[in-house]
Amino acid sequence: RADYELRIIIGIYPIEDNSMAVESIYSKAVLASKKCKESATGGYFAFYDESMSETIVKNQRITNQMNVALKENQFEVVLQPKCHLQTGKLIGAEALVRWKHPENGYLPPSEFIPVFEKNGFISKLDEYVWDKACGYIRSWIDSGLDLVPVSVNVSRYDLRNQSLPSKFAQMLDKYGIPAKYLHLEITESAYMEDARVIIKEVQRLKDIGLHIEMDDFGTAYSSLNMLNEMPIDTLKLDMSFIRNYEKSPGKDVILSFVVKLANALNLGCIAEGIETKEQAAYLFSLGCSTGQGYYFSKPISKQDFDIFAVQSAAVISA
Ligand code: C2E
Ligand code: CA
Ligand code: CA
Repeated sequence: RADYELRIIIGIYPIEDNSMAVESIYSKAVLASKKCKESATGGYFAFYDESMSETIVKNQRITNQMNVALKENQFEVVLQPKCHLQTGKLIGAEALVRWKHPENGYLPPSEFIPVFEKNGFISKLDEYVWDKACGYIRSWIDSGLDLVPVSVNVSRYDLRNQSLPSKFAQMLDKYGIPAKYLHLEITESAYMEDARVIIKEVQRLKDIGLHIEMDDFGTAYSSLNMLNEMPIDTLKLDMSFIRNYEKSPGKDVILSFVVKLANALNLGCIAEGIETKEQAAYLFSLGCSTGQGYYFSKPISKQDFDIFAVQSAAVISA
C-alpha cells in the first residue's frame, strides 16, 4: 500500500468582466494555483495577478529566440578572476555566460538560465560555454601566457547525460589541453536530489582528471557526514557566508567552522562575493586563501581578462 499525502490547492481569479470566456477564466485560476505548487512553504491558495501572464509571455519569448541566439553568437562568455586573498595574485577564472540580445541589450543569467533549465536548452548552452572556455585556454597556451585554470558551471541537468565524461574528454582532446586546466563547478544542491547517483557521475568526471568545485556551498545543507565521500576537490563558499558574518559581528563561528572543515578534509577553499579589502583579509585570517568577487574584478571580457592577467603578474613581480 502506497502512502500519499493529499494537498488541496486553490487558484483564485475574481471575475470582473462577465463577458470573459470561461476557458480564459479557468486558465488564469490554474496559473494562480501553480504559485501554491512553487511555494516550498506550502501555500494552499493564491490569487491571480497580471505579472503571472507577463512572466509566461516573457519566458515564451526567451524560448522562441534561444536557438537563433546560439546560432548567431549572441551568447558571450566572460571571465571573473579568482585571486589569492593576500597577494591578489591571479589563480584562476570562472566562465560566466551573458546574452547580448539584439533588442534588449545584455541580459543577466538570472533572466534566462532558469528558463533554459526548465526547457532543457541549458545543456546546449553549457556545452557552448565549455567549448569557448577551452578555446580561451588554448589561446593562452598558444601565446605563451602564464596559464590559470578556468572553471565552468555544470548544471544538475547536464549530469543526467551518461556520456558527459566522454564529451569533456573529446573537448580537451580537440583543443589539446591538459584536464587540470578545466575546473567544474557543480552546485551543492545538485548533490541533494539523488546523492548516490550524482556522486557516481561526478566521480566519473573526476576520474578523467577534471578538478571539481562544490559551488554555492552552504546553501543546500549537505549532510556533513557525506562530505568526505564526495568526489570534490574544493569547497566554494557561497557569498551568503560573508553577508551574514557582517550582519552579526562576533557570530562568525559558522564561517570559521566551514573554513576549518575544508582544511581538515584537505579540500581547497574559495570564498565568493569578496567586495572589500577587509573581507579578503578576514577570510585569509580564518585560513581560506583564495577568493572571487568585485574587490578583485567583476566578470570581464576575454580581452580585458588578458590585460588583468598581465597586470596581476606585474604586481606580483614588483
Ligand atoms: P554563480 O555560479 O554563483 O556565479 C557567481 C555570480 O556572482 C555571478 O553572477 C557573478 O557575477 C556574481 N558575483 C561575483 N562576484 C560578486 C560580488 O563580489 N558581489 C556580488 N553581489 N556578486 C558577485 P552572474 O554572472 O549573474 O551569474 C549568476 C548565476 O547564473 C551563476 O551563479 C550561475 O548559477 C548561473 N550561470 C552563469 N553562467 C552560467 C553558465 O554558463 N551555465 C550555467 N549552468 N549557469 C550559469
Ligand atoms: Ca559558479
Ligand atoms: Ca556560486
